[in-house]
Amino acid sequence: MQNKQRILLVEDEAAIRQGLIDVFIYHGYEVDFAVDGGEGLQKALTGKFDLILLDVMLPTLDGFSICNQIREKNREQAIIMLTAKSSEDDIIEGLTLGADDYIAKPFSVTQLLLRIQAVLRRTSTQLASNQQITLADNVLIDCQNMAATTSNGTLTFTRREMDILLYLDAHSQRPVSRDELLNKVWGYADDIELETRTVDIHIAKLRRKLEPDSSHPRYLVTVRGAGYRLMTATA
Ligand code: CA
Repeated sequence: MQNKQRILLVEDEAAIRQGLIDVFIYHGYEVDFAVDGGEGLQKALTGKFDLILLDVMLPTLDGFSICNQIREKNREQAIIMLTAKSSEDDIIEGLTLGADDYIAKPFSVTQLLLRIQAVLRRTSTQLASNQQITLADNVLIDCQNMAATTSNGTLTFTRREMDILLYLDAHSQRPVSRDELLNKVWGYADDIELETRTVDIHIAKLRRKLEPDSSHPRYLVTVRGAGYRLMTATA
């Protein structure tokens, strides 16, 4: 029998927490949970989870701090933030700190499950050693170490950022649309109704890391009406 996939749920509201635990168990996941931020961080750093679901507003330590501290130790860990729908800033901050995606409260359980399934499907491909992406200006990205040295200094990427760069590199002869990235990099089915800014925010973050001037991108350009294109040495 296949091992169950493990989810850590960090949520202080008992009703939401218990509701989600029931749903996850019903759908065949193994669930651990934490009721405040301190416990959440401790479990996140010491346990082994396929996915961590992080509420933002938590007693003792907020979800942003937890996300930040997980990322300092682990750039592969899949993380989804549960944010307040009203707060655009929350969404941007969560994704900037390295969450893979967010879902705004109040959310539908069906939407949440679709995203969880997509994130969990995506976390298994191996990065080959010696795999490199060469951007214009011969900026080299070391894929296995998820790092690059640019005029901004030495950078590291999360696994999700690396997957975006790898996908754009594999299709660098053309622009790639937002929907295509959601489908191929996040694994969301074409037909799920999804209103999300996660792609744009990830692209903005990659530009801040890679570009000498992120308001005039040279490597990760927007092709109006078509999507994003990675300008590689050979493109
Ligand atoms: Ca809360």
